[in-house]
Amino acid sequence: MNEQRSIFWMRRDLRAHDNVALHAALSTSDEVVCVFVYDRTILDELPRTDRRVAFIHASVAEAGEVIARLGGKLIALEGDPSRVIPDFARRIGAGRVFANEDYEPSARRRDQAIATALARDGRDLVLSKDQVLLHKDEVLSKSGTPYTRFTPYYNAWLHRLGQDDEVLGDYDPAPMKENFDASVDGVPNIPLDQLGFDEVDLENLSLYPGTTGARRVFDEFRGKVGNYLALRDALPLPATSGLDIHLRFGTMSIREIFRELGKHADVHAAGVRAWIREVCWREYFSQLIYHVPRVADGPYLRKFAELDWVGGKLGEERMAAWQSASTGYPIVDAAMTQLNTTGAMHNRARLIAASFLVKTLGVDWRRGEAYFALRLNDYDQASNNGNWQWVASTGADAQPPYRIFNPSAQSKTHDPDATYIKHWLPALAPIDAGHLHEPWKRESPIPDYPAPVVDLVASVEECKRRYARASVRSRTVDS
Ligand SMILES: Cc1cc2nc3c(=O)[nH]c(=O)nc-3n(C[C@H](O)[C@H](O)[C@H](O)COP(=O)(O)OP(=O)(O)OC[C@H]3O[C@@H](n4cnc5c(N)ncnc54)[C@H](O)[C@@H]3O)c2cc1C
Repeated sequence: MNEQRSIFWMRRDLRAHDNVALHAALSTSDEVVCVFVYDRTILDELPRTDRRVAFIHASVAEAGEVIARLGGKLIALEGDPSRVIPDFARRIGAGRVFANEDYEPSARRRDQAIATALARDGRDLVLSKDQVLLHKDEVLSKSGTPYTRFTPYYNAWLHRLGQDDEVLGDYDPAPMKENFDASVDGVPNIPLDQLGFDEVDLENLSLYPGTTGARRVFDEFRGKVGNYLALRDALPLPATSGLDIHLRFGTMSIREIFRELGKHADVHAAGVRAWIREVCWREYFSQLIYHVPRVADGPYLRKFAELDWVGGKLGEERMAAWQSASTGYPIVDAAMTQLNTTGAMHNRARLIAASFLVKTLGVDWRRGEAYFALRLNDYDQASNNGNWQWVASTGADAQPPYRIFNPSAQSKTHDPDATYIKHWLPALAPIDAGHLHEPWKRESPIPDYPAPVVDLVASVEECKRRYARASVRSRTVDS
């Protein structure tokens, strides 16, 4: 084994710039071999056409080019990382594998198995914080326990950020580029079709992969971040950052985003603060799933473990109507059409569609969570799970059960001219906007558009009864 030879294993950090694990490898080893593993345990579950795989593929290609320009080499491998990484380390005689931490429960199990396999041969897995500004143990309550409520977490997170300049440090690989090792055989990327996937026209979806794509999206957003608070809920407007997929796959570091934000905007202005607060939700959910991994499989609030969801044939019919954008509620159907055709969905639309499934249709939130996981370009287990549990009132800091989004009211407030609805459901373009918020009030039904799948008033009552029954049951069990 060569103690001076290390592997940098790129995962959800698809970039060479400002990458903590890469920097750690280069600063402590003379020969750094870079790898990316196409993980068959994930890929085998996906459909042949997957926008995320195409995005990852293009981002790996770009990161490989950057590493090559620095004198290194990124090698693409394929298989189950639990075997591929230890085998590769053995093959090239590397003493250490450097990677950035991933807080998802299944990723942690994988990393534990890899660390154990490496240790059997006397090798180490070295993990760094990179995905978040402040990691799971850096924002704890005074008694040293993790926060479960968002607001105290946010206040402590902001305080800590303000105190510690190191948090936004730049981990530039260039000064240590002579420590890259390009001598190991291997391909820089594997063709998409060889991986079993189709090409996707990413540009047509306004998805720009790689660090160049992320910087382009960020540069556009920084000019309008001041308006974020005022406009972020307006469904027809592109007023949010669109950085979601980049944060998910790490094409731009969160530190670089904050450094750049500080240079170009007043971080104390209300709009900018509102955006920073949203980014904090990402870190809050990430530490929550780390400290309470059981949320990946069920409700944080155990009293809602036994909610009597609508199941059987009726449940299937309702799920099918929701998934196929045919609920008869235009705002919900527009949201689901946006998701189904692009993999994107405005945050306000996610709230409306998720609440509709759980609270209006009475379908188990886990089914919606799983559907979003399959479709969302930015799918991230911690954020998806956290938000579904927030909507379903089962989460650590969720909305109360009696808060039920009214799709008509949401539609009137956030899409008053039905611009969003008409964009995603062009067949409804000729209909007067007023009728698209509550089509059932029209004298005659909208031609070729489904009748409402449920009655709103009745569903509100049923939802309240459902949560009340679960609360009573849990009190009975506890007493
Ligand atoms: C039911 C539901 C499911 C969701 N699933 C995901 C998911 O799988 N992955 C995901 O990244 N976001 C998820 N979100 C949160 C949010 O909708 C997206 O992060 C946001 O729409 C991304 O667009 P943007 O980058 O323009 O966001 P911006 O408004 O510009 O926000 C900037 C960044 O902050 C983070 N962020 C913003 N809002 C939230 C939030 N509520 N929770 C966590 N992080 C947030 C994201 O990383 C986002 O890119 C979900 C929300 C709901 C209601």
